[in-house]
Amino acid sequence: MPTYSRVDLAFERGEGVWLYATNGKRYLDFTSGVAVNALGHAHPHMVEAITAQAQKLWHVSNLYRIPEGERLADRLCELSFADTVFFQNSGTEAIECCIKMARKYQFACGKPERNRIVTFEGAFHGRTLAALAATGNKKYLEGFGPAMPGFDQVPYADLEATKKAIGPETAAIIIEAVMGEGGVRVVPHSFLKALRKLCDDHGLLLIFDEVQTGIGRTGDLFAYQHTGVKPDIMALAKALGGGFPIGACLATTEAAKGMTPGTHGSTFGGNPLAMAAANAVLDVVTAPGFLDKVKHNSLLLKQKLAEVKDRHAGVIAEVRGEGLLIGLRMVPPVSEMVDELRNQEMITVAAGDNVVRLLPPLIISEAEIAEAVARIDRACAALALAHPRPATAGAA
Ligand SMILES: *Cc1c(COP(=O)(O)O)cnc(C)c1O
Repeated sequence: MPTYSRVDLAFERGEGVWLYATNGKRYLDFTSGVAVNALGHAHPHMVEAITAQAQKLWHVSNLYRIPEGERLADRLCELSFADTVFFQNSGTEAIECCIKMARKYQFACGKPERNRIVTFEGAFHGRTLAALAATGNKKYLEGFGPAMPGFDQVPYADLEATKKAIGPETAAIIIEAVMGEGGVRVVPHSFLKALRKLCDDHGLLLIFDEVQTGIGRTGDLFAYQHTGVKPDIMALAKALGGGFPIGACLATTEAAKGMTPGTHGSTFGGNPLAMAAANAVLDVVTAPGFLDKVKHNSLLLKQKLAEVKDRHAGVIAEVRGEGLLIGLRMVPPVSEMVDELRNQEMITVAAGDNVVRLLPPLIISEAEIAEAVARIDRACAALALAHPRPATAGAA
């Protein structure tokens, strides 16, 4: 179905941060399948782990124990605030689980009327009907019938509006610590702290959507870890499988107390092949020094991008983001920059607010960062030519 207006470009092979296209060209991958290929393409450890698992067992029903999944869940709990995990196959399913769990928690607390969730403008939580209602983007909702009820959307990072939206029917608040699709907007930590306090004061659950930020993208394993705020529930997906479809909903024992046998399920969720992929990703991302390197490379890339911005102030308005989730807010239309970067054999992805998202694999080297910056610089020069600044600009 033509739900994507696809670029006429196909890749046949990948290696590290490089994608080899059927047109014979080699592209620098600054999309990572939208924050998925954290270890780049064909990472040897992942290839080995998936191949070994494929020769043993791919799928069994969740009616039986799945040791690879128990191991992954134990590791995720060990590494985070969580005590318990439910596995799915995508981000939007992980969000569904978060929403169901929050409602069921209040029900289990004897407050079934508490079934509404506060969400924020500019958020993105996925494309199933509940996740779409939480996303609240009119463009995505239009034509799909009545939006699922139970969501109260307030302006981004507006504490007064958030307080006003909380009522006797509120169950939870859901937010991305860094808004990805919404334009790489880093939510102020003070606002997240205020949300934590509101949740504690009102008996609400705080849900972090870390589908895009999780698994090292922001330089910490989870973005919440350097905000000083712990959620009660967290959604993961994208990078967790490094390219293998997987989602996970993590929670404290308390938040998950309504999720008793029979209340939720998934046929594929947590199958041994997916679990092997995610365990392999964790092996690499949690190895000593890996995330320090991500933080180091993030600083390096941001510094160099700041220089590019200074050289091309008429093209790049702002460099923002955390870790290797970086946004360039553009002056000309973002689509022109994405196209021009593709001409420079580098692929990126647009986000809201006229932003180009730079999402390189986390394994990128300093030499590859230098190469990327050179291509971005050339793309800016091309756009500057196409959009000459008015003669008076900067004359004062
Ligand atoms: C991508 C994304 C989702 C949806 O994930 P899918 O795997 O596409 O269903 C949800 N939340 C955030 C923050 C995302 O970036």
